[in-house]
Amino acid sequence: MKNLIKNFLIIIAIFLTISAVFTLLSGPLEETKEISLTQLAKEINQGSIKEVIVVGDNLSILYKDNSKAISRKEKDLALTQSLLNYGVPKEKILQVDIREKKEPEFGSWILQLLIVIPFIFFILFFWMIFRRAKTGAMEALNFTKARPRLFGVDTKKEKVTFDDVGNLKEAKEELKEVVEFLKTPKKFLKMGAKIPRGILLVGPPGTGKTLLARAVANEAKVPFFSISGSEFIELFVGVGAGRVRSLFNTAKKHQPSIVFIDELDAIGRIRGAGIGGGHDEREQTLNQILVELDGFEKDATCIVMAATNRPDILDPALLRPGRFDRRVILDLPDIEGREKILKIHCKNKPLASDVNLREVAERTPGFSGADLANVVNEAAILAARRNKDKIYQTEFLESIEKVLLGPERRSHILSKKEKEIAAYHEAGHALVSTMLPNTEPVRKISIIARGMAAGYTLKMPKEERKLKTKSEFLSEMAVLLGGYVAEDIKFKEITTGASSDLERASEIARKLVKEYGMSSLGPISFGKKEELIFLGKEISEQRNYSEQVALKIDQEVAKIIKGAEKRARLILTKHRRLLDKLATTLIKKETIEKEEFEKIVASGKRKSKNKKGRK
Ligand code: ADP
Ligand code: MG
Ligand code: ZN
Repeated sequence: MKNLIKNFLIIIAIFLTISAVFTLLSGPLEETKEISLTQLAKEINQGSIKEVIVVGDNLSILYKDNSKAISRKEKDLALTQSLLNYGVPKEKILQVDIREKKEPEFGSWILQLLIVIPFIFFILFFWMIFRRAKTGAMEALNFTKARPRLFGVDTKKEKVTFDDVGNLKEAKEELKEVVEFLKTPKKFLKMGAKIPRGILLVGPPGTGKTLLARAVANEAKVPFFSISGSEFIELFVGVGAGRVRSLFNTAKKHQPSIVFIDELDAIGRIRGAGIGGGHDEREQTLNQILVELDGFEKDATCIVMAATNRPDILDPALLRPGRFDRRVILDLPDIEGREKILKIHCKNKPLASDVNLREVAERTPGFSGADLANVVNEAAILAARRNKDKIYQTEFLESIEKVLLGPERRSHILSKKEKEIAAYHEAGHALVSTMLPNTEPVRKISIIARGMAAGYTLKMPKEERKLKTKSEFLSEMAVLLGGYVAEDIKFKEITTGASSDLERASEIARKLVKEYGMSSLGPISFGKKEELIFLGKEISEQRNYSEQVALKIDQEVAKIIKGAEKRARLILTKHRRLLDKLATTLIKKETIEKEEFEKIVASGKRKSKNKKGRK
């Protein structure tokens, strides 16, 4: 877009320049000689003048032989009067056609402008090209210089304040202290207080680390130099360290100031574990950061903030006192926090009166601030696409699912058989879930493909808990296997659709045995996880148990999974009719909402009771 405008301007500039050149050239082409008033008087006397046109004080003269000349008359004196004064007889003057024309004041103005404008364009154009060429060259040479973005201070758009950050009460309190220090450093220095040097914001992705850092910069009203960890890593060796040096130098020059290193884990990983020896680029960069952190004078009012979602993989040297020793933890928001964040993002949006953000918050456990912002945005988009003038609750609820599972893929058409299988599979999950204790109520079942899944069963967590019990895990596994078992009962065959369920169930079973001590093997933690540093994923496991124990673990895991399968099978065979009913409803309607699901289940239960009563 910007380019388009630029090109357009350039074309206009070229046109105008051409036209300007033409006017300039065409002006002096028909050269008119200038004569004095005395000369004019003489020539009128001789009778060689045909016509004189008076425009202001300018005279344009036409000879009888059709040649032209110009002259100027005396100011404030009529031309005839001056001619008389020059001694031209009256009758001679009368022979000449003297006409007066209005001064084309406005017209000449425009003309002049038309001539000047192209020049301005021309100069601007060259200046632009010149400047671009210059910065290009500079950039190519100065790649070691950090390119910190300065924001929060004098950028008018997007001012982030603490009020724009929902939830995160403790983190905000902690950072307000920092803001106060940056505003009035003397107060603290007088008390002999040591200045917080490094502040590490720790939290899962999307919890508002970057947002909070920007809020600090804005509230403190000091220069804020921000750079992302990945920007230090470049093609050329030594660039990273150079950038660190230049970044800190700039910040020190602008004290009081804030340096913000986003995604610190990109450079701050534990040293000596990278592949390719201890001299790799990242290590040099990290060393330089450590040097700079130590290199502040005692009363420097420069604060270094950094953000990461992997504090566990940071080099211990970074976390030493005097470096990033203050940690601010940003948690995923709880229900209150989610409601607050939703409110913040709904601030400038037209909401219908039926919107209940509390309900949206209830249905979004585990969502980060960024996810919630996304939900609100998706709802707004949905409302706009439906040509509504406000956002209603249905839009919010639909966008939750979209954010959670990816967009609906209605075009992904299942064959009749596939649909039947998917229906039984999902009905199996849902039915086992309602029949077991310690499970969350079913909110929606659907066999519309969404994201990668052919169908899905949504559950509604009643409350959030950080701790989970063994019986909850066992119920969860039975629910996961519900889909598998339902397929088996109905079709006597299993499809690939159950593979991710099985994977998840097996993972839980293995964790129960090896990590949580929830099996007959007792409260022992087996296996020590190790991270392959450069991939950042749990890849290898250090085996700290014998072969016999390994065998026992496998047996135990198998036992737990078989148990879960048995539970699911028991429920589904007992409620076979209900399973059929749910599946046929699903095939017909494709989605079953909470209310209808509960109705079907309740009627099914009643029927089976009646049957028992009659027997
Ligand atoms: P990260 O922790 O990954 O750096 P960001 O700060 O970039 O996350 O957050 C991304 C977006 O999510 C923000 O721009 C904001 O719109 C939204 N967001 C995240 N947390 C919050 C919060 N606590 N309050 C309000 N909005 C938030
Ligand atoms: Mg971020
Ligand atoms: Zn499934």
